[in-house]
Amino acid sequence: SENLLEIHNLKTYYPVKGGFFKHTVGDVKAVDNISFEIKRGETLGLVGESGCGKSTAGRTILRLLKPTEGKIIFDGIDITNLSGKSLRGIRKDLQMVFQDPYASLNPMQMVGDIIAEPIYNFTKKSRAELKKEVIDLLEKVGLPEDSYFKYAHEFSGGQRQRIGIARALALRPKFIIADEPVSALDVSVQSQVLNLLKDLQEVFELTFLFIAHDLSVVKHMSDRIGVMYLGNMAEIAEKACLYAEPLHPYTQALISAIPTQDPRQKKERIILKGDVPSPLNPPTGCPFHPRCHMAIEECSKHKPVLKEVKSSHRVACHLY
Ligand code: SF4
Ligand code: MG
Repeated sequence: SENLLEIHNLKTYYPVKGGFFKHTVGDVKAVDNISFEIKRGETLGLVGESGCGKSTAGRTILRLLKPTEGKIIFDGIDITNLSGKSLRGIRKDLQMVFQDPYASLNPMQMVGDIIAEPIYNFTKKSRAELKKEVIDLLEKVGLPEDSYFKYAHEFSGGQRQRIGIARALALRPKFIIADEPVSALDVSVQSQVLNLLKDLQEVFELTFLFIAHDLSVVKHMSDRIGVMYLGNMAEIAEKACLYAEPLHPYTQALISAIPTQDPRQKKERIILKGDVPSPLNPPTGCPFHPRCHMAIEECSKHKPVLKEVKSSHRVACHLY
């Protein structure tokens, strides 16, 4: 199939415990019924404010979290309920680049060992082969050979993220989830790391899920973009369509907030009312309705479903 990944009606709920006896008092609906697919070689950008469920969605797809409901099909295999050895077997094909490279690198471990460890665990290659492979990976992410014998604290933020990327590539995965990979970095190095990821995508024939809270970062990276709000997918479309003609009022507000130098593109900024509501107690009807500048009566009563309103352009909104 042309899809490397298919997500069907995925839900990830966390129980919330309360009181001395830690009774379950409710569920945080972190991911509340989302569906999408990612084609081979494509980058899908996933955006939304913090707490909208995009990281939880990513972690669930990697099976670091257990889905509450739904299906995850990876490379034709249903991985929703895999465990033990079969899960470990599939893990080498799905890797993650984390937001905070420093927190995800063991400070006591030599950089070369950090990258060699997953290769060793899966292949039991010889010491000489491992070293050759690690040095090749270091070179591919733009780090000098002698980085092998250094420790994470000896590197800058951007270099540490390169180490994290080399580690993610070590097992030659097919699919990488990059969870805000540049948001902890200085603005001056952000575009270098983004360009590196783009180059590596070609060299390693990777498929990406690229998570960001910022529509300007995903614009550079993505072929298609999904916009999440409060655990739901609000809209998903080809990048050009989404920026040229955003359909969901939430997407319209996000796009109106992107600073632009071009005076012809100057549009009225849409200011969102209030804050994102708690996913423990989401609004009735459309989850966006308390903040929506376009809301109609219907919106507080019924939850809109994501539907295709134009070719490859899906939106969850009663206006369409
Ligand atoms: Fe706004 Fe209603 Fe559309 Fe929700 S369904 S985004 S509240 S117009
Ligand atoms: Mg996050």
